[in-house]
Amino acid sequence: NRKPVPDVETLKSDILNGDITALSRSITLLESTNKKHGEHANALLNACLPFANKSIRIGITGVPGAGKSTFIEVFGTYLTSIGKRVAVLAIDPSSHISKGSILGDKTRMENLAKNKNAFIRPSATNENLGGVARKTRESIILCEAAGFDVILIETVGVGQSETTVHSMVDFFLLLQITGSGDELQGIKRGIIEMADAIIINKADGDNIPKAKAAESDLKKIIHLYKEKASGWTPIVSTCSAIENQGVTIVWKYIKDYISLTSKNNYFERHRKDQNKYWLLQTIKNEITDSFLKNERVKHDLEIQLNLIEENKTTPFNAAEHILKAHLKF
Ligand code: GDP
Repeated sequence: NRKPVPDVETLKSDILNGDITALSRSITLLESTNKKHGEHANALLNACLPFANKSIRIGITGVPGAGKSTFIEVFGTYLTSIGKRVAVLAIDPSSHISKGSILGDKTRMENLAKNKNAFIRPSATNENLGGVARKTRESIILCEAAGFDVILIETVGVGQSETTVHSMVDFFLLLQITGSGDELQGIKRGIIEMADAIIINKADGDNIPKAKAAESDLKKIIHLYKEKASGWTPIVSTCSAIENQGVTIVWKYIKDYISLTSKNNYFERHRKDQNKYWLLQTIKNEITDSFLKNERVKHDLEIQLNLIEENKTTPFNAAEHILKAHLKF
């Protein structure tokens, strides 16, 4: 009872006209495991590529409960009010286990979901991080071709997901909350290095003094880090997403960042470096996937795993054995 998939030309022209239904269908095509759909999606991506690259890509991370969806709802709505079209994508590597802990239900961003200048898409499910990442990268291209000026990519701080999001955005924002007082210890060092802004949310009511204290601590810590390649000094500030305080100013920070990194050429350089990174990443993923799917490889792998179990070989010997036997160029 499914409608046939429109041809590439039709989808492309609908996407270029900003048709959300076509965009949505095309992303579904990208996410499909069906080989024919995959080819279709690739052709569509190539057709859309010349119209991509024009948005500002912003990554937003934070622990569950930090207020990401509340923040995105307010921030996204503000952006549409100043004439921007906003797409919200998610990378949630846990979603195949938890059935989507982020953006799973649109009620989390009720107003934005109804806004005709916004597009919200949940994380692809049933995929490993590599697969989700690739699909999100490709979805960015389609969203840009559909005329979205700002792409927000949300992730929870699980495993490598922050690094993955960082590698596909221009500006990386950490939404932080205050806890027992030593919460700064809880921030992974790598995240501070990646962040272009650390915004402490829930700075409202009784929580204001704690949030202000965390802000001043963080400002001191930031200064201990070496200067970023972008030349940008990360912003540290507080906000209350619920009270819409300190949220819209984040757009000013981002514009300042773009202005600085456009002048010093970092912006372009960084995007090109990201593209090179993704080329290598895609090759690695494809090679690994197809290698490990091979029946004979699977068989030998089983044997070597047993040998390891019995302490009869080392991981390196086992790997060399399998690669020598099966990797042919
Ligand atoms: P997410 O898991 O990071 O997306 O967090 P949510 O946006 O779902 O927010 C988690 C909880 O914190 C919800 O109950 C929100 O109402 C609440 N919350 C979000 N932002 C604020 C804020 O600025 N102040 C206060 N007091 N609560 C907030």
